[in-house]
Amino acid sequence: MAVPRCKKSKSKKRHRKAAGRYEGIESGVCPVCNEPVLPHRVCKSCGNYKDKQVITVEE
Ligand SMILES: [Zn+2]
Repeated sequence: MAVPRCKKSKSKKRHRKAAGRYEGIESGVCPVCNEPVLPHRVCKSCGNYKDKQVITVEE
């Protein structure tokens, strides 16, 4: 329900704003080489995705 802005306390407003605050991309760790990887991406250092070798990486 729409409430006049002056009737909402600063605390109430801040609580609401904090609930949907973007905290960046959560990165995981590759189970094979323990390198940080983005979710749903092939690991760049070893080429694994979901415990399978997907691409070959040259060193
Ligand atoms: Zn890896």
